[in-house]
Amino acid sequence: MTNAQEKPSLSYYLPKDVTYNKSIPTPESVLGHEVGKWHVTHDKLVMYMKVLAKSSDRITLENRGKTFEDRPILLLTVTSPANHQNIESIRQEHLSLTEKSGANAQIANMPIVVYQGFSIHGNEASGSNAALLLAYHLAAAEGTQIDNLLKNTVVLLDPCFNPDGLQRFAGWVNMHKSEHLISDPQDREYDESWPRGRTNHYWFDMNRDWLPVQLPESRARIKTFHNWMPNILTDHHEMGSNSSFFFQPGIPSRTHPLTPQMNQDLTKEIATYHAKAFDKIGSLYYTEESFDDFYYGKGSTFPDINGSIGILFEQGSARGHVQESENGLITFPFAIRNQFTAALSTLEAANTMRTTILRYQRQFYENARKEAARTKAKAYIFGDEKDAAKTYHLAEILKRHQISIHEVKNDVTVAGTKYKKGASYIVPRDQRQHRLINAIFEKRTQFQDSLFYDISAWTFPLAFNVSYNDLSSLSNAGNEITDLQAPTGTVNGVGNYAYLFEWNEYYSPKALAIIKSKNLRAKVAMKPFTLEGVRYDYGTIMIPVQNQRLNAQEMKKFLNYVAKKSRVNITAVSSGLTEGIDLGSSNFKAVGNPKVAMLIGDPITSYDAGEIWHLFDQRYEMPLTKLDMRNFDRMNLSKYTHIILPNTYSLSKSYTSKLKNWVKSGGTLIAYRNSVRYLSKNSFMKLDLKKTGIDAKNVSFEQRRDHNGAQVIGGAIFNTKIDRSHPINFGYLKDELPMFRNTTVFVNPHEKSYNNPIQYTNSPLLSGYVSEENLELLKNSVPFQTKRMGSGRVIAFTDNTNFRAFWYGTNKLLMNAIFFSGMM
Ligand SMILES: [Zn+2]
Repeated sequence: MTNAQEKPSLSYYLPKDVTYNKSIPTPESVLGHEVGKWHVTHDKLVMYMKVLAKSSDRITLENRGKTFEDRPILLLTVTSPANHQNIESIRQEHLSLTEKSGANAQIANMPIVVYQGFSIHGNEASGSNAALLLAYHLAAAEGTQIDNLLKNTVVLLDPCFNPDGLQRFAGWVNMHKSEHLISDPQDREYDESWPRGRTNHYWFDMNRDWLPVQLPESRARIKTFHNWMPNILTDHHEMGSNSSFFFQPGIPSRTHPLTPQMNQDLTKEIATYHAKAFDKIGSLYYTEESFDDFYYGKGSTFPDINGSIGILFEQGSARGHVQESENGLITFPFAIRNQFTAALSTLEAANTMRTTILRYQRQFYENARKEAARTKAKAYIFGDEKDAAKTYHLAEILKRHQISIHEVKNDVTVAGTKYKKGASYIVPRDQRQHRLINAIFEKRTQFQDSLFYDISAWTFPLAFNVSYNDLSSLSNAGNEITDLQAPTGTVNGVGNYAYLFEWNEYYSPKALAIIKSKNLRAKVAMKPFTLEGVRYDYGTIMIPVQNQRLNAQEMKKFLNYVAKKSRVNITAVSSGLTEGIDLGSSNFKAVGNPKVAMLIGDPITSYDAGEIWHLFDQRYEMPLTKLDMRNFDRMNLSKYTHIILPNTYSLSKSYTSKLKNWVKSGGTLIAYRNSVRYLSKNSFMKLDLKKTGIDAKNVSFEQRRDHNGAQVIGGAIFNTKIDRSHPINFGYLKDELPMFRNTTVFVNPHEKSYNNPIQYTNSPLLSGYVSEENLELLKNSVPFQTKRMGSGRVIAFTDNTNFRAFWYGTNKLLMNAIFFSGMM
């Protein structure tokens, strides 16, 4: 299309030399408008795919689940009608390439499997809009070329990776579209409101969740992936409006070392097909200068550790219907056409390189088996003797990746660490997913490059704060777990005196929240004690039976419900006399009923806010009011006991003084990451912040970006020493706690050591990249401080304790800050 104002038409998008079956409905005939005239809403996209699947014997359509907003998660399986007749045996035969049994599989006659996915970032919408055209083309194109393609290929067409985000963005740009398009980048159409359409319902970047698999959309996707083990997976994105089009390979030095070189070589060969197709339509493109293949939680990198080839596409974004850019007017139809072109060139590459790529997959697993056989350590064991739920959630991730795990036969001690049956699992390393297991468990501190597109470490047992060890034999492995069951909670015994439960379990805060929401009295133990032969740790919750709103019988029934709901074991006791603090001691402190709010909206980071919202709503079922900064001056803060301030750099002066007054009159403010700098600067709490930044000596203009980038902590894991007697650490079993850090805010310790309950060790790097300069600054600094201010309290975390819904290990810190702030 030469003129931005010209109406888009099918002939603009589709290849010129192809005829189309007239009986297959075009997108326009169902949507009511041509592709690219409006941004398709997810609802309409679903409507079209349903109609299309009904009219074509090349397509089957399945719904694999629901998003948080109950939108269907669709998948189209596209192949020749003859292949559809045998689809299950094709799948089984294809999977055999990842097993020993596939050694003699007839690759010459096997279809290649290509997973094509679109718009995981909802406001990068040209992908999903191109998916309409791709589906139409695959259903309606006629001739030997398409017949040959469909005979040799099974296409898993995932038209929208992020239904909720796509719908949100479509609503925004469509409602601001003028009939006579406005290309001025300052128009409201191009200036989405917070939290924008990139993320899912809880504001997660879903293109970081391929490895943790914590979100329903990812669960469906990963299931499809393992169900088919595709050979190529493409991930269609958009980038800044002044950019052209990018396809992988990315920056060669930033490929994860566990990815075979052959993967990158094949990516490069596939790229020649994209180049040829883009040359033909005259669209600008580039490769190898940006993006990387390091973090396996991204769609284009995850396949690389699974014997597949992940490919990232990035289109310069119109972020609406047309925008002025350095490359002239960039129209939405232009962006769609490029995505569609890349989707077709992918299929052409797949078809032509079919046997080479199938052989690569078989080789990948053959080599993995050889590596596995050579590995000295035969298995990993992991667990947490006092937290079955958290351990279960890690096991659940492994199961989602089809990693086989075993029960622990008997309680066992490995290198001084106790592993309890029922709260520990064994992962044999000699299995199909050997390489993926390495990627999940390994610690890495040496890197070829010092720049990372995303995090540089994700070692799962550290994220979950579970113990783990190598095993030299499988002698202690019990049955393989085929049906992983979540732990259940019960009430042991009947008590007319009190009930107790420890704070170690992941869901202990959920139990307490339910109890407090009933306005029952509960107290927390400030010291350990022993009662009826059981030792109870710091933070044990005690619910007295007498003088409550429920009588003894009602209480028993209610606590049964709490135990079941929170998977926590509750113990009834008949006496208050203990070894240590008695149950009537003033060392049991009353826990209040928190009313929590969180500040959101510009200038607060939506990811961090979303993680906290998700934690409260999905994990702990605790109410959390979201206060938009836009109307902050009109809000009545007196109803909240706690306000959370996620990552931000500053707030306006009037908001600052309003927040201060609220703290002084008794509120507790909990701030995260760069907000800590803001707190210190605005005298909420005086902190001794270390000076950061290094000199640029002998750095050329060309090297300036790498020089500065090397000082970024994109995300790495560091060890801390904790004081378990401080309420912020209640529920933690060990004296060390791995923390995830993605800031360069460094705080010097307080002069009184008891005010430093969490402190980085002298050699804190556990896994990931950090510059030598930053590591020096980090040593012995503190990621947590708290101080009184008037009748209230300020709590500061420099690290993200809620990272991406899978940092289970530090989630309790925020709960401690809420329930136990009064005891600090
Ligand atoms: Zn993107």
